[in-house]
Amino acid sequence: VKPVHIIGAGLAGSEAAWQLAEAGVPVILHEMRPTRPTDAHHTDKCAELVCSNSFRSDDKEYNAVGLIHDEMRRAGSIIMRCADQHKVPAGGALAVDREGFSEAVTNALENHPLITMERGEIDGLPPEEWEHTIIATGPLTSGALADAIRKATGEESLAFFDAIAPIVYKDSIDFDKAWFQSRYDKGDGKDYINCPMYEEEYNRFIDALIEGEKTEFKDWEKDTPYFDGCLPIEVMAERGRETLRHGPMKPVGLTNPHNPKEKPRAIVQLRQDNALGTLYNMVGFQTKLKYGAQVEVFRTIPGLENAEFARLGGIHRNTFLNSPRLLDGNLRLKSRPDLRFAGQITGCEGYVESAAVGLMVGRFTAAEKAGKTIPTPPLATAMGALLNHITGGADESTFQPMNVNFGLFPDLDLKKRVKGRDRKKLYSDRAIPLFDEWLSTVNAA
Ligand code: FAD
Repeated sequence: VKPVHIIGAGLAGSEAAWQLAEAGVPVILHEMRPTRPTDAHHTDKCAELVCSNSFRSDDKEYNAVGLIHDEMRRAGSIIMRCADQHKVPAGGALAVDREGFSEAVTNALENHPLITMERGEIDGLPPEEWEHTIIATGPLTSGALADAIRKATGEESLAFFDAIAPIVYKDSIDFDKAWFQSRYDKGDGKDYINCPMYEEEYNRFIDALIEGEKTEFKDWEKDTPYFDGCLPIEVMAERGRETLRHGPMKPVGLTNPHNPKEKPRAIVQLRQDNALGTLYNMVGFQTKLKYGAQVEVFRTIPGLENAEFARLGGIHRNTFLNSPRLLDGNLRLKSRPDLRFAGQITGCEGYVESAAVGLMVGRFTAAEKAGKTIPTPPLATAMGALLNHITGGADESTFQPMNVNFGLFPDLDLKKRVKGRDRKKLYSDRAIPLFDEWLSTVNAA
């Protein structure tokens, strides 16, 4: 059997290699470290954790990342197995001894009879003779390969930085203050959610933005360009107190139905972020404010006092594809289906999500090698919701990396409104049997 080539032995590539090898498919796993380092990795180990040692919440009942842990364990994930073996006390979170963890993943892969590690950079698109290649080179994909991918997919299709505006759960917005309307009633007239700010609120907000604590760029991120249209909101505020109300917060073409006589000084707009209509992004609110400061400052916006954030804002070095446009539902590049992508380069965010996408890609590729097709995980499972988001559920014009969260799941279709923890539990209760059913179909294929 011809091997599958995997480029990058990070969180995603390691998991994909394991899934393929366990399915009986030989793998050649290419890793450029230590011959060529990245700016964030320090070792030559597989699945090195470049920053925090946390896999976040391990609560499968009330947390979407805890639920995806559970699904991955059920599917025989090597990343979860090694994380469980090397966990350190962290309350409800799953945190690991980073060295023990990466060492264990490396040993498992190196000792697998069907996995061959090859050290060295792949500096261009893989040749078609390889037949099946998975590109899992992560947020710090080496320049030569990134350039080749960009040439193959088009200028606009591969980003080198994320400029992330916060995303809010629609459920948590107060519609006694906010309202639906598009500027000048364009489109179907109610595409945006609007939050009004009057004189005093606006002034307080600008002060808070300027004073709020910011995160610093790391040395190697210092060349992060502030390209037009992506200026951090606090940088705009520093340029002048009126800049925002003439920019993303301009109050024109909109009328507040709760107070039609008084014209707001500024209006914050939120745009639908997923096809399900459960998530809305704050237009123009990309920011380097620290997470705590973001929550504090953005909850002063009328209508967002109790906002829950599916994702907070940020600007980082990050190489990622416009996956909703470029990849099919099986994570194949539409223009070259012999190439699959996995991990953070697909526009998921986080160690766990990267490994989960690696797991799915490993399964899809193993099935294809065996001449079979397997269904994708159901939309109401954590893996299915994440996959759907990156391969079509997200709006391609505003696509930015995303963690798994319950906002990506289809509605619960309930007779009466259920909120908070109880609602989260219902998502998990629905997901687990669906995941098991999917897994047994896939294992039997
Ligand atoms: P990686 O784990 O980065 O693996 C990619 C691998 O590909 C690397 O080993 C790299 O050496 C190799 N490679 C790259 N190019 C080539 C090439 N051309 N040829 C051969 N090999 C190549 N997520 C969290 O959940 N928590 C955090 O605290 C966190 N902190 C982060 C901090 C930084 C600075 C960055 C950049 C990201 C952070 N992330 C964090 C986000 C992300 O989840 C991790 O980067 C995660 O490791 C992504 O997994 P991956 O498998 O896609 O990529």
